[in-house]
Amino acid sequence: MHIAIIGAGITGLMSALELLEQGCSVTLFDQQAAGQAASWAGGGILSPMYPWRYPAAVNALARHAKPLYQDWNQKLQPFTGIDFQIHETGMLIFDESDFEIGLSYAKTHQEPQQQAKLLDQAKLQQINPKVDNSKFKQAIYFSELANIRNPRLLQSIIRYLKQHPRVTWHEDCKITRLNIQQGRANSISDEHGRLFQADQYVFTTGAWSQYWSQQLGLEIPVQPVQGQMLLFKTPENWLPTMCMNKVMYLIPRPDGHVLCGSSMRQVGFDTSPSSEIRQDILQACIEMVPELADFPLVKQWAGLRPSSPDGIPYIGKIPKLQNAWANFGHFRNGLCMGPASGKLLAQLILEQTPIVDPVPYDPVRLLESSHLML
Ligand SMILES: Cc1cc2nc3c(=O)[nH]c(=O)nc-3n(C[C@H](O)[C@H](O)[C@H](O)COP(=O)(O)OP(=O)(O)OC[C@H]3O[C@@H](n4cnc5c(N)ncnc54)[C@H](O)[C@@H]3O)c2cc1C
Repeated sequence: MHIAIIGAGITGLMSALELLEQGCSVTLFDQQAAGQAASWAGGGILSPMYPWRYPAAVNALARHAKPLYQDWNQKLQPFTGIDFQIHETGMLIFDESDFEIGLSYAKTHQEPQQQAKLLDQAKLQQINPKVDNSKFKQAIYFSELANIRNPRLLQSIIRYLKQHPRVTWHEDCKITRLNIQQGRANSISDEHGRLFQADQYVFTTGAWSQYWSQQLGLEIPVQPVQGQMLLFKTPENWLPTMCMNKVMYLIPRPDGHVLCGSSMRQVGFDTSPSSEIRQDILQACIEMVPELADFPLVKQWAGLRPSSPDGIPYIGKIPKLQNAWANFGHFRNGLCMGPASGKLLAQLILEQTPIVDPVPYDPVRLLESSHLML
């Protein structure tokens, strides 16, 4: 079976990997170079930030992130020479208002990644001596949480897919039309009018997905939500854990880079970083780890999260079409939901037993919002 995948971010790339594993051939399209949009810009925390604030459907996909990425890292490394560094630092959360609910959530979710305990000041200092102990006297600690080096992850998958005999690439190729006849997609065309044909068509177009509303006769409520990020360089393994307070976080990489983020703004497709947001992020992160201010700020950037109304992505067959599929709307959690989203999509296309109950992700939900449009 030949599958066209439109959009080569983490969602499209993971979908491609899973479909190839099942013997399909794949053609990947991206309007720019592959892996340069939200999936590059993100932080790579392998869990929703406060799991109890998210629907069960988001956590159900995210819980597969660490083991699936570990498998892929092993599988791809011999071909790519790239280790995408699944860094098991654990996460400290300082929001006192969330302690009780976070701890009871951990009790009811018996899986290792969701296990949390309350740390007193002495224990907190022992686990992360860089935290300002005059301000933060306790924390909840998710010891099993990891982060992934997402730019390397993308590089690794792209390198693997570029040498794969059943993959064809079209980068800098913006797909503008899905050509439909009698309930079947029979081709897609790019902005220059070139036609491409496949058996199945998959839309993994992230924050740009609303573009398809008119052609599909559906109201696709996916909006770009800008997030900005700062990058510091500290000595190797300088910050021992991820830290989070009031939705701002620090993510240490093994080589001493520390990512700080992130903001949330609806400003269309604008990805220019601003000094005002830099100050907000700096203030929140330096409040947690004051010594960070002594190290160089090496980069600032912005990316566009593909928001969906409830944070639950649309994964499955597009209503009213026999051979077109959605895998978009992952909002703040596309890197952690990515591997299971790709697997679920491949299983649905190939009519296999799905990794999770597919109902909550079914794009049939789009019909409800579309009644409003008509
Ligand atoms: C600052 C920030 C921090 C984040 N931190 C985390 C985190 O710690 N953990 C986590 O799990 N998630 C995080 N996220 C969210 C995560 O990055 C996104 O949910 C995820 O990257 C979405 O992946 P995607 O493949 O759907 O979209 P994208 O990576 O945006 O890919 C979509 C691709 O489709 C292409 N495309 C669109 N339209 C067309 C077209 N018509 N023709 C051809 N190509 C097209 C685009 O060029 C793009 O390459 C963060 C996001 C941001 C911005």
